[in-house]
Amino acid sequence: MMNDLTHSHMIHPARRLLGATLLLLCLLPAQTARAAEPFVIFKAGSMTVYALEDHAGSMDISLFSGPASPEQRQKYFINGKSPSSINAFLLEIRGAEPRLYLVDAGFGQLGPGNSGLPGQLRALGAVPPDIDGVLLTHMHLDHIGGLLQDGKRAFPRAAIFVSGPEINYWTALAGREPNNPNAAAVKNVLSAYGADVKAPFAFGEEILPGVQALDAAGHTPGHTVFKLEADGKRLLIIGDLLHAAALQFPLPDECPRYDMDTQAAVKARKRILNLAAEQNIPAAGMHIPFPGTGSVSKDRAGYAFAPIGR
Ligand SMILES: [Zn+2]
Repeated sequence: MMNDLTHSHMIHPARRLLGATLLLLCLLPAQTARAAEPFVIFKAGSMTVYALEDHAGSMDISLFSGPASPEQRQKYFINGKSPSSINAFLLEIRGAEPRLYLVDAGFGQLGPGNSGLPGQLRALGAVPPDIDGVLLTHMHLDHIGGLLQDGKRAFPRAAIFVSGPEINYWTALAGREPNNPNAAAVKNVLSAYGADVKAPFAFGEEILPGVQALDAAGHTPGHTVFKLEADGKRLLIIGDLLHAAALQFPLPDECPRYDMDTQAAVKARKRILNLAAEQNIPAAGMHIPFPGTGSVSKDRAGYAFAPIGR
């Protein structure tokens, strides 16, 4: 299935280009700019999924803890760093009424450095008004920041899809701690998108034809994995199940500081990676080095990951 994957195609007839160059910012420390091209990671039936790299960078070893000894952990890092990206994915559904959905939106203007997402959409012939919806794996800043541009909605027509536990957690936190930067950003996103924020989905629900939301809570209270299926082929978009792929596939009990409930995060990681390995479903992650996608197999006490090329 991966053989016929090709580099980017024009997905929409060229529409008007963005009037202004969008200068967006993002999470990881500044790196040498890398002009990653959008990459097709899945093509089946009426669905095509493109990997978009919002930023290239690395995760520092100091972010991680778990049962491994520091010496063991160190083996999986180079000079204390593990390559990492901030990826988003673009789902194109063809049909009488073609639709474009982003899965997460990168860091946008909320982080340091430039965001690659707007340029990558342009490279595909898509402009922000083309986006029909944004599916959120969760609401951390590096996934929702790109939803806003100068405090206003970056995608004027997009509906927002997010799980009930996720939206409930952050809105409750915004009430208790209005100065919490993540909760404040969630509040801004919700008010910017207003009625276009869909009724929150439940785990297990099919939120679009061929797109099912799976429970992956742990990293955040409503962290979601999306299972896509078209023409008998499947893909798991696994969000923030892993942050340092080099460490966490072989040692899945290791967690970054960003996992809010580490016990639940480890359980979710193993549950979803077992599903990927046992049913031979490719997995695509937001922080796995671009294009963030590959096949998962069981390997000793953990997993091995074979990335697709770019
Ligand atoms: Zn993240």
